[in-house]
Amino acid sequence: MENNDRIIKFLVHDGKVNIVAADTTFMVEEARKIHDLSPTATAALGRLMTITAIMGTELKSMSDNLTVQLKGDGPIGTMLVVSNMFPKVKACVQNPRVDIPLKENGKIDVSGAVGKNGFLNIIKDIGLKNPYIGTVPIVSGEIAEDFTSYFATSEQKPTVVALGVLVNKDGVQSAGGYVITLMPDATETEIVKIEEAIKKADPISKMLDEKLSLEEIAKIVSGDENIKVIEENIIPVYECDCSREKMESGLISLGKKELQAIIDEDGQAEIECRFCNKKYQFSKEELENLLNEIK
Ligand SMILES: [Zn+2]
Repeated sequence: MENNDRIIKFLVHDGKVNIVAADTTFMVEEARKIHDLSPTATAALGRLMTITAIMGTELKSMSDNLTVQLKGDGPIGTMLVVSNMFPKVKACVQNPRVDIPLKENGKIDVSGAVGKNGFLNIIKDIGLKNPYIGTVPIVSGEIAEDFTSYFATSEQKPTVVALGVLVNKDGVQSAGGYVITLMPDATETEIVKIEEAIKKADPISKMLDEKLSLEEIAKIVSGDENIKVIEENIIPVYECDCSREKMESGLISLGKKELQAIIDEDGQAEIECRFCNKKYQFSKEELENLLNEIK
């Protein structure tokens, strides 16, 4: 599969409306392969990864992190996606093999997998003493609507969010999304134009599958031919940043008692990274050295 993943930011309607459009096909396929995701899990996690990548590009510093957790009462369980500004994205899901029947229209039932009761938590670690945490109840479990609700209530931003993943028997056929944000000077005129444009537009996954460019998609969903690119060539990638050092601090954070119990019971430890499945081995001696580091 060719990697054409991109995120492009546009201004439309004379700068009164902002659009960020993303093609995340390759990134979502990476996640599918790493976690052996079922089609349902691919669609759900792919949507969540796409919006997290888009939001990640808003971070200002290289050390900033955005963590998105979607915790519904459906069979997929909790989904977790982390992104930095580039955006390098990693993700995991409690039940990667979740399999539920398709909806009556033949589409994957994402809200059925996620569940309609629960919470969307957004955690922005931007180097302050305490990270920013925004929480909204799940609206529909379709994910795009849940983020529209988050932007409206937690960030006071009127937005339209569209997310889509098309899965075939070989994997991800297309994945992507867009976020349309009204600037403070947007008026009813722009709102009506956008509403009409979106009503006529195909779903984002279909437009990407038909090989429409992100520019073309931005024109279609905004109803404005006169678009201005403000940032391009942002490439979202699936990349885990785990390391032996991080696993060591994880072991240390278990505390003396817990670590001693592992040494006594297992005499060694193998830790698997939940984002990339990489395995880290710790011998008894190494564990004892870590134990000595705990004050
Ligand atoms: Zn990892």
